[in-house]
Amino acid sequence: MEVIRVENAWKVYPDGTRALKGVSLEVNRGDFIGVMGPSGSGKSTLLHLMGGLDKPSEGEVYLFKKPLSPMREDELAEFRKRRVAYIFQFYYLLEDFSVLENLTLIAQMLGIESPEDKALKILEFLRLSHRLEHKPYQLSGGEQQRVAIGRALISEPAVILADEPTGNIDWEEGRRIFELFRKLNEEEGITFVVATHNPDLKPFFHRIVNLKDGEML
Ligand code: ADP
Ligand code: MG
Repeated sequence: MEVIRVENAWKVYPDGTRALKGVSLEVNRGDFIGVMGPSGSGKSTLLHLMGGLDKPSEGEVYLFKKPLSPMREDELAEFRKRRVAYIFQFYYLLEDFSVLENLTLIAQMLGIESPEDKALKILEFLRLSHRLEHKPYQLSGGEQQRVAIGRALISEPAVILADEPTGNIDWEEGRRIFELFRKLNEEEGITFVVATHNPDLKPFFHRIVNLKDGEML
């Protein structure tokens, strides 16, 4: 089943930078895809387009077979909300709130039932039960990223787009995070698209999309 399709996508930023030059790809349910390429090759731009966070200058992106370019911002936000989740290199947690609140606040915003029970279950799965009342700044990088993963999971997404999710943490913890992704992919059927420039992570991916200067190799 098709989850995301990118059709001949070009992205030209207002300053004239051509970040993507005719990229096409299809993501199917259950895929675990790596988007690889050196810094500046267009990985983040491609992930933004795939999640509807930005629009292509030319071409089209289909999310669950629906073309995104005709949608208004509010329609798109609503459409995306329980389907696609993002994980970023720099976590972007709510700094003034506890680990538990970082999940429950999102859950309440999304209208999810029994947010606290669900958050506690997810945090246990993520080995964070001993950190519920901590604030993000009291956590290690790996722990903060696990909270960000928890925040993604509480929306019960069909697909997770992760942009250099281990770019800021050490190799051991990074590998554990990838093992967690693999488990979620295999056991929960969550589709993953992960951008990374770290070749050591290649063995995790079912398929690799290689980018260079905005083009697929
Ligand atoms: P990657 O994630 O692989 O490092 P990016 O998608 O971030 O690559 O960037 C691709 C190219 O687009 C780079 O040349 C980058 O400098 C440029 N770029 C990214 N974002 C913008 C922006 N908002 N405005 C102008 N140029 C941008
Ligand atoms: Mg990037």
